[in-house]
Amino acid sequence: MTGRTTTIRTKLGAVLGVALLIVVGLGAFSMTQLDAVHRVTQELHNLWTPKIRALDAMQRAATSHRLLAIRRMETTNFRHLAALGSGLRTAEDSLGDARERFRALPRNREETALLVAFDEAWAGYETSFEAVADRLDGGEITSAARAFHTQTLPAFDAATLELDRLTAAADRHAREAEEKAAGVQQKARLLIGAAIMLAVGLAVGAILWASAEITSPLLRVSRAMQRLTAGYHAPLELGGEARRDEIGVLMRAAEGYRESLIRSREFADQAAIERRRLDVAINTMPIGLSMYDAKQRLIVCNDRYAEIYGLPAALRRPGAAFEDILAHLRSAGFFDDLDLEGFVRSLSLPLAERQAFVGAVDLRDGRAISITYSPMPAGGWVSTHEDVTARRKADAQIRHMARHDALTELPNRVQYMEALECALQGERAAELAVLSLDLDRFKIVNDTLGHGVGDELLRAVAGRLRAAVRAGDVAARFGGDEFVVLQRAGRRPEGVAALAERLIEALSRPYRIGDHQLVIGASVGIALASEVGIDANRLLKCADMALYRAKSDGRGAYCFFAPEMDAEMQSRRRMELDLRAAHEEGEFRLHYQPILDLKTNRIVCFEALMRWRHESRGLVSPAAFIPLAEEIGLIGPMGRWALRRACRDAAAWPAQIAVSVNLSPSQVAMEGLAAVVQAALAESGLAPERLELEITENALLAETEATLTTLRRLRALGVRIVMDDFGAGYSGVGYLRSFEFDKVKIDRSFVLRMAEDKRSMAVFRAVTSLGADLGIVTAAEGVETAEQLERVRGEGCDEAQGYYFSSARPADEAAALIERFNGPATQGGVERRLSVLPGGRLSGSDAALGG
Ligand code: C2E
Ligand code: CA
Ligand code: CA
Repeated sequence: MTGRTTTIRTKLGAVLGVALLIVVGLGAFSMTQLDAVHRVTQELHNLWTPKIRALDAMQRAATSHRLLAIRRMETTNFRHLAALGSGLRTAEDSLGDARERFRALPRNREETALLVAFDEAWAGYETSFEAVADRLDGGEITSAARAFHTQTLPAFDAATLELDRLTAAADRHAREAEEKAAGVQQKARLLIGAAIMLAVGLAVGAILWASAEITSPLLRVSRAMQRLTAGYHAPLELGGEARRDEIGVLMRAAEGYRESLIRSREFADQAAIERRRLDVAINTMPIGLSMYDAKQRLIVCNDRYAEIYGLPAALRRPGAAFEDILAHLRSAGFFDDLDLEGFVRSLSLPLAERQAFVGAVDLRDGRAISITYSPMPAGGWVSTHEDVTARRKADAQIRHMARHDALTELPNRVQYMEALECALQGERAAELAVLSLDLDRFKIVNDTLGHGVGDELLRAVAGRLRAAVRAGDVAARFGGDEFVVLQRAGRRPEGVAALAERLIEALSRPYRIGDHQLVIGASVGIALASEVGIDANRLLKCADMALYRAKSDGRGAYCFFAPEMDAEMQSRRRMELDLRAAHEEGEFRLHYQPILDLKTNRIVCFEALMRWRHESRGLVSPAAFIPLAEEIGLIGPMGRWALRRACRDAAAWPAQIAVSVNLSPSQVAMEGLAAVVQAALAESGLAPERLELEITENALLAETEATLTTLRRLRALGVRIVMDDFGAGYSGVGYLRSFEFDKVKIDRSFVLRMAEDKRSMAVFRAVTSLGADLGIVTAAEGVETAEQLERVRGEGCDEAQGYYFSSARPADEAAALIERFNGPATQGGVERRLSVLPGGRLSGSDAALGG
């Protein structure tokens, strides 16, 4: 774009220049007109007036001369003649004078010609008159008179005619000059008027232009500026981009001003926000903050500062004197006079020397305040005040915690080790015994009832332990459900054994935790310094090994360390490694044990039982590796595998045969079990009603909402839920009511003891009849003989499982088993199947395991 590059100054200069030119021109023009008028006037005055006057005088003189001449002719008196003579001379002189005056003035040709004609005529008259006079003097009066009238007077008339002509010409010329003057004046008036009109027009144009080009834009700019300063920030839209002159500059400057105003408003807003933030920050600081000037007057303090010292509003305001604040501290009773003086004294020196001061004061109300004073460059100081009461308590707490178990308040490992080391240094070191305790079934409680209950239980255990040990002995918690006791003066093993028994007995009594009645047990491993040596770590390790043995021997027992346990521990660790490897290598297999319907004597289900064949260990019993898998957290993935495998195998069986898979309590407690089951079903295409899941009462120990939700969700899938090993634990029939089980498997110990033990028989009967009432299928486990089978059948049990029918067999034998019990797929018939019932136990690896 081209833009108007001419500046206002140039424009104004141009306008003023033009105006000036006009004014000068107008002036000059007026001057010329005035000059013209003047010239004409001058001419009139200098030329025509004298000319007319001279001609007048000539006329008068001529007239006078004629009159005198006539009288001369008539007079005879000498005296009169003399007077007439002088009069004639005077008239002649006057005429001569006037003629000379006229002659001296500029003349035109006409006048000159007329003058010459007059002169000649006059000269003729004079000559004629002189001749007449001579005749008179000579006395020739009559001829003189005749000559006078015939010659002189006509000569005079001729001269007068010439003079009249001259006068008429002069008059004409004078009138012409006058008319010319009037014309010049008129013209001048017109021209000056026109010039004034033009000047006025130009002035109006200049004003309009200035208004459009300068004033209006300036007004727009100033209005925009007013709006801006009034706080309206809308774009000004002055259109100054196209202008290159000063107004354009001004407009752009206004735009720039607006932008900078907006920016500065933004800055101001930002600053306000920051100030508020700072305010918030300073007032939400957990630390008191105050700032004093060189005159020890408060500049600023935050809420916390006022809060710590309970400052009234007047002392919080800027300007409050430090002295008044000290007086307040004294009167509010935060300090003794002495304390306060001491404090101020300790403060004054560093402040005087402009050094920072860090200290702490104990207020009389028990609070401890940590204080820092930092001098400021301009005098005065900044101080921070922190209530460290809680921190001090926390420090003490930390010190306590470093040596105590947080949950139970029992001494922790640190304190226990100190006590043990210390005791081992003593004279009676050889009499020391280390007892390592482990709670049986605690893990289940924790997994199923939740950590809250678990923690409560641990606290209760700690209480019982504390009560059970004698003064001087130390009971400590090392973590989890691991407790350790240090017994001094356990001179004889019998004393230690008594303590171990007492501990087991104390810890095995039922606990009441919230709504739960819990029964756990305890196992104890014992290491004697007299046997193991006086090495603290070794003692603990040996006690742990003894504990492991105690646990594997059957829970709720104690065991002394024996040297061969070392080897056992190592083998257990090896087993753990092997188990992990087995899982990774896929060394597990599922075997299937048939479960028969006692009415039809047909296989209705196979229970999937895990098998591990290890290259050097041979076949490892699930009873040995499942608990280990649970302990080391491998049960989740292993269980998932078992579920998928079992579903896939079962999908190949006839549709009326179900598969039953065992679930560990921790699996039931795991989130997402339903999803795992659903995936296994979907993947294998197995109908949900063909899958049974066996859980033990341990899984239900916690009837937590989560567990029940998981079970309900599984049931909603169409899967059947089976209570396994019923009666083997502590539970009663109550569990059966807690959830709608589809089936209950009565533990094989009942089947085993039914014949001789009336109680077992009674429980068995109660369960089967309850099952019949509640519509729960009952199954007897561990049926090994025909006799047992008959008894079980006699008690109304629906299903049975046991070596009598078959031990668990590899998957590829399932078809044979089905054919054996249910007949070939095409045939059927109870009689026929009965005839092939096996007579006794089956040989094979599983039977060996089961025994
Ligand atoms: P369980 O669920 O009670 O399984 C029945 C156990 O009794 C099996 O032992 C089986 O071989 C054995 N048995 C069957 N009939 C008789 C009999 O007539 N007489 C005797 N004396 N025993 C019989 P197994 O296979 O050694 O399994 C032991 C336990 O390991 C199972 O007890 C179960 O609790 C657990 N288990 C096995 N597989 C799995 C698994 O895949 N997952 C989980 N979580 N646990 C499993
Ligand atoms: Ca089972
Ligand atoms: Ca069982």
